[in-house]
Amino acid sequence: MLPVIALVGRPNVGKSTLYNRLTRTRDAIVADFAGLTRDRHYGTGKVGPVPYLVVDTGGFEPVRPEGIVRHMASQAELAIEEADAVIFVTDARTGLAPQDHRIAQTLRESGRRVYLAVNKAEGLPASAAAEFYELGIGEPYLISAAHGQGIGSLMDDVLARFAPQPGEQPQGAGQPEPQEEGPRRVRVAIAGRPNVGKSTLVNALLGEERVVAYDMPGTTRDAIDVDFDYDGRAYTLVDTAGLRKKGRVFEAIEKFSVVKTLQAIADSNVVVLVIDAQSGVAEHDAHIAAYALESGRALVVAINKWDGLDRYQREQLDLQLELKLKFLHWARFVHISALKHNGLNHLMQAVHEAWEASQAKLSTPKLTRSLIEAVARQQPPRVGRVRPKMRYAHQGGSNPPVIVIHGNSLQAVGDSYRRYLESWFRDQFGLAGTPLRIEFRVNR
Ligand code: GDP
Ligand code: GDP
Repeated sequence: MLPVIALVGRPNVGKSTLYNRLTRTRDAIVADFAGLTRDRHYGTGKVGPVPYLVVDTGGFEPVRPEGIVRHMASQAELAIEEADAVIFVTDARTGLAPQDHRIAQTLRESGRRVYLAVNKAEGLPASAAAEFYELGIGEPYLISAAHGQGIGSLMDDVLARFAPQPGEQPQGAGQPEPQEEGPRRVRVAIAGRPNVGKSTLVNALLGEERVVAYDMPGTTRDAIDVDFDYDGRAYTLVDTAGLRKKGRVFEAIEKFSVVKTLQAIADSNVVVLVIDAQSGVAEHDAHIAAYALESGRALVVAINKWDGLDRYQREQLDLQLELKLKFLHWARFVHISALKHNGLNHLMQAVHEAWEASQAKLSTPKLTRSLIEAVARQQPPRVGRVRPKMRYAHQGGSNPPVIVIHGNSLQAVGDSYRRYLESWFRDQFGLAGTPLRIEFRVNR
């Protein structure tokens, strides 16, 4: 499980600047997908050997002079409660503010491990930190989020507990580690807002005749993984955030945790994003999807409660999905009714295909031939006197697949041509259900 770092502090101290810096490694990927919501407060990152999940709690605080801490919305409180460490961000330019004392008080009571960052410290002497000892949080770290100073040593300390021990495999930010024995089980995370029908779906899947559900361990831990076989294929249902096991069945729990959802996604191979057809697409659905995309996970969208809609409503919903989840054009959308056990077979078929696609092995000759054909059908447009020249392609990674295209003047390739190539390769190699990255490399 990824360690969770929560950023806390009053407005304007630089939390989102720090958030951006801590999650920047991932931004390059996100930039490849136009139309993605960017205004998010959760992201993964890696500074040093340990990948982590960062939560910027700031977005949840009403910008009000009084009662900032008291009015922190519940997701922010939950994030702090679930955090492995909190970075308390303050401002070296304005110095200590009364709100800082109140936040420090709340954090002390939370019992979390708290690191005090004094931001905007570029060009300031070490003595600028002196007054911040007053907060009783311990040694202040002088940092500059904007200029990237002091971040490395702060994060070294924050993440020290999670560093791989000597001899242990370093954790990659990518896929969960493969299991050593038995068949390779595909790890599936069922994600979605409360009430969309996740527990109904899980129970329906595990109750299907074609399913062999292995004994669910009745554990007291929060995390429960359930192994099951569907149509002879081996799956593990990753600890599904927001569900709790009760006897033989799963039930929804009241507290919905974004953090747990994101951890489950990070811990999975394929994400099933469940959407409630009767209440439509919410911003939250798009955020979960965007996170799955950023993490490079294969994804299937399950449009649940399809049973309750008439024809007009179905058409309206499909339009809405197309508009709001445009950035998931590559994913399968499966209409299901978890309640009536409709569409489950289609859903699991789509999960299987998405997984296969994410694992695709594409040989250099095949890719290159396909690239040459794509270019023959449609040349990249000239930019001034330059026309980009594509020579060959190879696979630069999988999970998700990365196609690297080599040639000259490729920096001049525009977004629309990149999209053309992406959909060309998707068609040619049957890559539905997985994110796909196209990279250009200029030969020297
Ligand atoms: P938030 O409200 O806590 O999320 O704060 P922001 O990240 O939006 O930053 C508030 C302002 O402080 C912005 O104008 C930033 O450019 C500025 N800022 C953030 N980090 C630094 C820094 O390290 N040095 C300086 N001088 N300004 C910074
Ligand atoms: P969760 O919070 O995402 O786990 O949602 P639940 O599985 O608890 O379902 C929330 C409500 O939606 C319950 O009342 C379910 O009976 C209902 N529900 C779930 N799936 C369907 C479905 O396919 N059709 C209809 N009409 N209702 C459903």
